[in-house]
This record gives sequence, C-alpha cells and structure tokens, in this order.
Amino acid sequence: MLLEDADIGKTLLSKLNCPQCGNANTFTDARKFNLMFKTFIGPVEDSSAVVYLRPETAQGIFVNFLNVQGSARQKIPFGIAQIGKAFRNEINTKNFLFITREFEQMEMQFFVNPKDDKKWYDYWKTERLNWFVSLGMRKEKLRYHDHHPTKLAHYAKEATDIEYEFPFGWGEIEGVHNRTNFDLSRHEEYSGKSLKYFDEESKEKFVPFIIETSAGASRSFMAFLVDSLYEEEVKGEQRTVLRLHPKLAPIKVGIFPLVNKDGMPEIARNIEADLRKHLKVFYDDKGAVGRRYRRQDEAGTPYCVTIDTETLQNQTVTVRDRDSMEQIRVSNDKLKEYFVQKILTAQD
Ligand code: ATP
Repeated sequence: MLLEDADIGKTLLSKLNCPQCGNANTFTDARKFNLMFKTFIGPVEDSSAVVYLRPETAQGIFVNFLNVQGSARQKIPFGIAQIGKAFRNEINTKNFLFITREFEQMEMQFFVNPKDDKKWYDYWKTERLNWFVSLGMRKEKLRYHDHHPTKLAHYAKEATDIEYEFPFGWGEIEGVHNRTNFDLSRHEEYSGKSLKYFDEESKEKFVPFIIETSAGASRSFMAFLVDSLYEEEVKGEQRTVLRLHPKLAPIKVGIFPLVNKDGMPEIARNIEADLRKHLKVFYDDKGAVGRRYRRQDEAGTPYCVTIDTETLQNQTVTVRDRDSMEQIRVSNDKLKEYFVQKILTAQD
C-alpha cells in the first residue's frame, strides 16, 4: 500500500464490522508492509547507503548470464544453478522451517530460445517432481498446483508449485516458472547493456526466455524429514526410525565393537579409518549394542557394522540394515565395495 493510501485504508476499515463479533472499529489502522529487509551498506546511515537483502538468489544469475555463458562456453539451452541465503521479512514465521525470515534457497535459471519455452517448462516441471521421488519421497505426498492464468506473477507466463502434504496440510516446496524474457529485458533497460544472445547456427539474435526452478533447501529438508519419520513397535518396544534415502543420510555407516576388549576396538577402529576415506561414518562404543542401533535408526543411518566374536574367528562382521533390521555377514575386506555399491548407487 502506498503511504497516501493509508487514509483511504483507514476510512474503509472504519466502515467494516468484525466478521466474528460483529463490532465496528475493531481493526488497527492500515499499515505499510515491506517484505524486503532494509539496511545500510557501510557505517553511515544516509539514504544513499540504503540496500535490501536479497529475497531470492535469482537476480545475481540474471546479471551474470552473458559472463557465465561466454566463460563456460555454453550454448543455449543451458542453466545456471545457485544455492544461498535469501531473506524475507515475513509477517509471521511458522511451522518450524516452513516459513522463516532467513532461509536457504536453491535456484536454477535455464536459458532457452523463446520458441522452445513450453517444451522446457514441461520438461523441468516433470524433472523437478521426480527429483524428490528419486530421493525417496513418497509420490502420493506430492502434487502440482498450477497457477491459474489470472493469478500469475507479473513476470510469468506459466507457473506451478510442487506441493508436499505436511502434517499441517499441503504446502509449496518448489516453484517452476516460465519467467519469459522479463528479467533480462529489465536489466537491459536499466543498465543500458545488451543481454542478447547470438545463436551461431540459426543466426538469430534474441533475449532468451528463462525457465526457473526455485526450491527452498530448508523447506525441502523439512519435507524429507517429515516423510521419513516413522514410529513403530518392534518386539514390544517403540522404535523411532528416520528412513532417509541413503544419499541424504548424514551418517552412512555406524561402526560398533560389540565389547571394548578382546581386540574388537582395534579391528573396529581400522574399519572406521578405512571406510572414512569414502563415506561418512560414526564410531560408537557406548552402551548395549541394541541401544546403539536405535540411536543410529533415529539419526537415519542406513547401515551399521558390528565387530563381534565371530569377527575374531573368520574376519567377517555383522552388517545390519536400518529398514529391514536384517543382519548379514560381510568380510572385513569387502566392506568398502559393499557400501559404495549399496549407498552411492542406491535407487528407489
Ligand atoms: P510461500 O508463499 O509458500 O511462502 P513463495 O510463493 O513466496 O512461497 P517462491 O518465491 O517461489 O515462494 O520461493 C521459492 C521457494 O523458496 C519456495 O518454494 C519455498 O520452498 C522457499 N521459501 C519461500 N519463502 C520461504 C520462507 N519464508 N521460509 C522458508 N522457505 C521459503
């Protein structure tokens, strides 16, 4: 709302009755909202030093488009992706990481010939939803919410939200937008510098259209957490397990000596040192082995290795699977191959 609109807002609000109690004059005065964080660059707080924290990462990509295209020797179509902080002065923060004022975004701007915009929009729309599924998210918990043509942002020709069904309802985790040539044209207009691309093959010169994929890393992270959290009963006991896809699990393998004697810790430390070169591992020698499994289940660790009495006899260890809780024996010297194959090539 513009400042001079404040009086109009005040008059309008004074005529409205509260829909709940029916009383008049229950509203506060109209106020001006700004969702961008305003600050000053440098120590002097004068108006020439006013700057705004970025509410999305995209703009830096737009202004650097020709630099990247030329230095990376790219031809259209190609994309530039970036991950970084974004700041929005949200009216309310809520639902843990769902709405925060500082969050992590991961965006890609994909530059295309304007003639091909529909093809590439459809391509990224499908690819981006499949990306969540490829990392283990349940397909039935995902859906598209296509923006109605009358509801599109001023820069967009077509847009969709990829939504996840959180415990509090459906919420957007990523947006896919056809931003047309709006951004590049505006940067051209205000900087006076051309952002046109010359296509060597067709000899065409044009301002590319942009298909944007804009995901919240923190919000998606929360969706993955929610999607993988299970509480179940195993042999009369409650088990909390985070069934994170192996590629997302922060720890890939837990390593436990069954007891802290008989040479088991030494073997376990050797296995740890060997696997750590390739995978994120966690060594735990505290408490009963059953409790150690449970701790790793809660952290989402897909596999645990236990060095036990049989290891001392035949150089094999117990490998326990988080989801099935099945235990198999694997030779000490085959562990690296076993986990690299299981974890790095895991597919759903
Ligand atoms: P919403 O209306 O759901 O807050 P938006 O339509 O403003 O989102 P975009 O501007 O398209 O979202 O931002 C892209 C992505 O950034 C969103 O899909 C979401 O994952 C993430 N995001 C946006 N605002 C926030 C926020 N305040 N906190 C955490 N993540 C956010």
